[in-house]
Amino acid sequence: MNSSISRPNPIRYCAKCLEPSTRPGQNFDARGLCVPCALLADMKPADWDARRTELRGIVAWSRERARSGYDSIIGVSGGKDSTRLALFAREIGLTPLLVCCTYPPHQMTTRGAYNLSNLVSLGFDTITVNIAPGIYRDAQKKAFLEQGNWARPSELALYSSVVKIAIDWGIPLVCYGENPYLRLGTGIESRDGNAERLTTMHTLGGGDLTPYLSAGIARKQLHWYEYPTPDALARWAGRMIFLGYYMEDFHDLVNAKIAIEHGLRTRTGPHADPARTGSIYNFSALDDDFVIVNQYFKYLKLGFGLVSQDCSLRIRDSLMTREEALDLVRRYDGKCDEYYIRRFCAYLGISRADFDAAVERFRNPELWTKEGNGEWRLKHPPA
Ligand SMILES: [Zn+2]
Repeated sequence: MNSSISRPNPIRYCAKCLEPSTRPGQNFDARGLCVPCALLADMKPADWDARRTELRGIVAWSRERARSGYDSIIGVSGGKDSTRLALFAREIGLTPLLVCCTYPPHQMTTRGAYNLSNLVSLGFDTITVNIAPGIYRDAQKKAFLEQGNWARPSELALYSSVVKIAIDWGIPLVCYGENPYLRLGTGIESRDGNAERLTTMHTLGGGDLTPYLSAGIARKQLHWYEYPTPDALARWAGRMIFLGYYMEDFHDLVNAKIAIEHGLRTRTGPHADPARTGSIYNFSALDDDFVIVNQYFKYLKLGFGLVSQDCSLRIRDSLMTREEALDLVRRYDGKCDEYYIRRFCAYLGISRADFDAAVERFRNPELWTKEGNGEWRLKHPPA
């Protein structure tokens, strides 16, 4: 059967988890399984001995080539995953330099500042890249109003700053966390620990600075956003890996537990209420509240939010039934409290009317319908 012949619904869901077809790059196979569910169903048990041997080889390779004393570099936020990665890197004999490309002070939460400082206090050399807030905010505002995604420039800076510092300091190994293709089925197709294909994403289109240059921001003001050129990368001759691929228990819940044991502070009180944050976990987005707004916009554009994504992960882990997941999705997916919207508008310097206009501009009419009472609802929610 070829599902492309007729598409009565603009959205369909994985036969196993709640992954929707609207996620960019997502594909369903003939069994109706999304990429990560299909990979899981077909995957042979991982050969952990082989992965450990491979990792030992990478560690030895990196240590031999360390010119600055650091054999590896890890982009960190101070959250659960980066704390776990830094601790693990040290356990396996690496000497990592941590790089945190932080949010501007107006955006970063005090909890986030505390967690970054906590990570440093665990004994790591850390470089913090603070980008000039004015230009940063202009770029975020432009990305929000034109693409419904304020985080685009942040992602550019996050990836680029780490690789730039690796090149400048002669650090041979860049470590990322989990392989996004295995976890979510998106990004560059990669089924192993090699993260070098991420570069393709940034050198082709994904790292395009044209929108910001055309908005009048000078190239020299975009140093940290600009991904290194292929020539610079070739001269560096370094490696990039998904360190999480080599860790038998690299998992959200385990990472959170270990990071909390090492001092991580999670969301508390109203900031941990899923009806306000659209997240079932108190360890999501610890350093920033505007991610909640971004998830809300993803919900408007693609019909799913963070609860749906997290529940799908838990279904694959066999830690949640589909029914339990559906209940959580119905109650909390896409939720974003007024408090975060007001703070976001004040930060970007836009009016509430500007924000509401963006909501209606980015709400996908194929996915949403307006009820008689004026409330919007998804036409085809997961069932
Ligand atoms: Zn699935």
